[in-house]
Amino acid sequence: TLALKVEGLTKQFRGTTALDSVYLEIQPGEIVALIGPSGCGKSTFLRCLTWLEQPDDGFIEVAGQPFGRERIGAVVRRQSGREIDRIRPRIGLVFQQLNLWPHLTALENIVRPQIVVLKRPREEATRRARDLLARLGLADRAERYPHSLSGGQKQRVAIARALAMDPALMLFDEPTSALDPELVGEVLAVLRQLAEAGTTMLVVTHEIGFAANVADRIAFMDHGRIVEEGPARQLIDAP
Ligand code: ADP
Ligand code: ADP
Repeated sequence: TLALKVEGLTKQFRGTTALDSVYLEIQPGEIVALIGPSGCGKSTFLRCLTWLEQPDDGFIEVAGQPFGRERIGAVVRRQSGREIDRIRPRIGLVFQQLNLWPHLTALENIVRPQIVVLKRPREEATRRARDLLARLGLADRAERYPHSLSGGQKQRVAIARALAMDPALMLFDEPTSALDPELVGEVLAVLRQLAEAGTTMLVVTHEIGFAANVADRIAFMDHGRIVEEGPARQLIDAP
């Protein structure tokens, strides 16, 4: 089963075609870097993939499950909000701006969605959160509030929070672009670590070195289409 299958995904904003029939398949364990000029549709793609934005047309499957729309015979059916909410946690999303809850500790930021969304018992959710914090080098930051963490640490907490939901794939939208240059390396190191652990990832990035060295495949987007796609080493001269 593919981790992700996208077919003909299309989105317009009042005359602007942001996505022009995007096709993409990602195998389990694969790391795909999505690269393209500003305004080419990368953010819209991630937002439509997660149904944070409603695509005008096209189909998405997450781990073999139709997401948002499904075909039943010749009939296309839009899933209900409840169904969309049930499948959405299968996709872990990490934005460029940090989106931690400021009034919750790092630990509680990771525990709470497991309890609320997955109905996990608190004890199990806490065990999972502590394990992820340790793996991401944040064991001693568990009780800290976001305001007392560095940008890179906050980004790692956001990654841990997404991973705690056991997603079929992780989406990263320029995970390092809001960070000071000296903190970029620590977040890229975490992505490398996840890659080695077999985490399936789609990463929107300007970090060509990362794309060349860590991604299995690079997809180039331009004017709302994926215009070229292939093994990283074939498309970019690795630095
Ligand atoms: P990227 O992430 O590659 O920079 P975006 O997905 O943000 O590109 O934007 C793709 C295109 O869609 C751009 O032309 C942008 O102006 C347009 N666009 C994005 N979001 C909206 C919106 N909410 N309303 C109108 N136009 C939008
Ligand atoms: P494992 O079975 O490898 O010990 P768990 O069952 O505890 O791992 O975790 C399940 C998922 O957590 C793995 O599929 C892996 O993708 C993910 N994971 C999250 N963070 C990390 C990390 N920093 N290193 C390795 N795997 C991680």
